[in-house]
Amino acid sequence: MWAQEAKLGRRWVGRLPFQGDLLESLEAFAAAKQVDAGWINVIGAVEKAVIGFYDQEKKQYDHLEFDQELEIVSCMGNLSLRQGRPVAHLHITLGDSRGRIYGGHLVRGTVVFAGEFYLQELLGLQLQRGLDQETGLPLWEKHSGRA
Ligand code: ZN
Repeated sequence: MWAQEAKLGRRWVGRLPFQGDLLESLEAFAAAKQVDAGWINVIGAVEKAVIGFYDQEKKQYDHLEFDQELEIVSCMGNLSLRQGRPVAHLHITLGDSRGRIYGGHLVRGTVVFAGEFYLQELLGLQLQRGLDQETGLPLWEKHSGRA
């Protein structure tokens, strides 16, 4: 286990574009504002969704596609750099018209109907993603220097 102490930076509250890709809209915003690390929360609704479930044995994501309108009951995660670009790692909980809940790792292809987000920039971190051999996931690599 390791951790780095962060300082709070800028923060934004905003609205996501209608029919934009949920993940890509947030990453584009972070890139435009030059945010290297942060924490994200989103609520709203989607027209369709794609979520992933990581098969730990096969070391690959299985995708679940929902071609239906769903509420974003909760969506949260972080922002860090991968190959120098901000990437968002978000998990999402979606609710249908009967209140049933689905959830998983958010992947591209989730189309926003309406979305309100909060982004908190975190400063003083050295968070770079690289391939982790044990899990097969692009996890944060331990940084030896002082953050
Ligand atoms: Zn995930």
